Amino acid sequence: MGYIGALDQGTSSSRFIIFNQSGQIVGQEQLEHSQILPKAGWVEHDGAEIWRACISVITGALKKAGIKGSDLNSIGITNQRETTLIWDKSTGLPLHNAIVWQDTRTAEFLNALSDQVKEKIVYKTGLAIAPYFSASKINWLIKNSPAVALAIKDGRALAGTIDSWLLWNLTGGVNGGVHYTDVTNASRTLLMDLESLDWDSELLEIFEIPRQILAEIKSSSQVYGHSQISGPLASEVPISGILGDQQAAMVGQTCFELGESKTTYGTGNFALLNTGTSIVRSKHGLLTTLCYKFGEDKARYALEGSVAVTGSAIQWLRDQLGIITSAPQVEELAKSVSDNGGVYFVPAFSGLFAPYWRSDARGVIVGLSRAATKAHLARAALEAICYQTRDVLDAMSADSKVALTEIRVDGGITANELCMQMQADILGVEVIRPVIIETTALGAAYAAGLATGFYKDTSELKAKWREDRRFMPDKTSALATTGFKNWKKAIEKTLNWLD
Ligand code: ADP
Repeated sequence: MGYIGALDQGTSSSRFIIFNQSGQIVGQEQLEHSQILPKAGWVEHDGAEIWRACISVITGALKKAGIKGSDLNSIGITNQRETTLIWDKSTGLPLHNAIVWQDTRTAEFLNALSDQVKEKIVYKTGLAIAPYFSASKINWLIKNSPAVALAIKDGRALAGTIDSWLLWNLTGGVNGGVHYTDVTNASRTLLMDLESLDWDSELLEIFEIPRQILAEIKSSSQVYGHSQISGPLASEVPISGILGDQQAAMVGQTCFELGESKTTYGTGNFALLNTGTSIVRSKHGLLTTLCYKFGEDKARYALEGSVAVTGSAIQWLRDQLGIITSAPQVEELAKSVSDNGGVYFVPAFSGLFAPYWRSDARGVIVGLSRAATKAHLARAALEAICYQTRDVLDAMSADSKVALTEIRVDGGITANELCMQMQADILGVEVIRPVIIETTALGAAYAAGLATGFYKDTSELKAKWREDRRFMPDKTSALATTGFKNWKKAIEKTLNWLD
């Protein structure tokens, strides 16, 4: 018996979810944090606010589950990836706001790199040249924050992705917190060599980053340290799983076999395909990334199609346009019309990610006529989620030379049945939703439980996966044909917008 806690620190909110041995949720708490938008294209988070939110969701979830911290077998951490924080190890405070993955302030720095350097970076890391990843964010902080530069000079600065900030705080912070990260998070920085699984000297030099400020890279499943009696868990619980959110969802969906894939629908959309122990390099605009590494086992790799804006376009309809008052309401509004009325919406708010990788692109709404309404726009926003996903899944089929027959989905948007049906129609394949759509947290819990023996092995985890609903494609749908053709035309209109 016993429980496992998963701390899921996402782009919009932080959650602590408590699972029992059969993987059922027995208590959870969630809290949003501020999105700080100092300028167009800049997105920041306050690291201290995030840590406070984590303390609050941990205590809240324990209370709801009616258990104590000491009832937890272990804790797993999963996090928004790439978002980068630099803090002072002597005060325990951030030296600057975290720069979020969506932030585009470093595009110019990256564009100025020579083609030869760009090629080297892409080969060593499997990623693309984009402000999305951590390295150029760290470079920016060192160059633009005098507090960061001084702390580095004095040997007080620690840098890392959000997992490392949370682990450091949970294990004691200024009183001996450990500074580690896992391979999946490190694989998103543009600083780790995919083969050696270590920080690469040449890459550190290109981005002018001193190695000593970075966390030590560990596997995704091992005991990194223990929580503190004085902390939110009020007991010494092993922290034994760390995975970036998308890789955690792969583990939560139990995609442990070569060729298995999942697509997560959240703030952005992320499709990952397990490529086993081999590093497969994409010819169609996908990323090569770490999938997971359990303890001493060999690392598993993945191909990834990342879409920057999907759920956040729904938030935009809610917060900026005010045409809905809650995200789920978009379904009702979209259903009030039978089609998009010719309206296409490409939410390229921060450029286009996979498979295009165009930071010069910006969003467009095209095909407007006098008859267009907010309902058509709502429908176009849901279609955009699905068309963008088709773009990356087409690239995945082209790279792997395997045609998809079905996809496993998860994430907040998968509660939207209209959107899931559109996805099946646009792809022409079955879309399968599991009972637990909180697969990110579940994956972190699985990684933690594997390290402590709470779970025996991956076969035990696979046996727990349960299907909730299967959306069957309508093979006659015009969305897959005319719709997709028009979508591609709309994409053309977003390009070359920024000089
Ligand atoms: P994340 O983990 O990235 O924070 P979640 O998986 O919690 O994301 O999903 C939240 C996102 O999904 C938000 O961007 C929200 O706008 C969107 N969303 C939530 N419910 C729905 C819905 N029923 N229909 C469409 N979008 C939704």
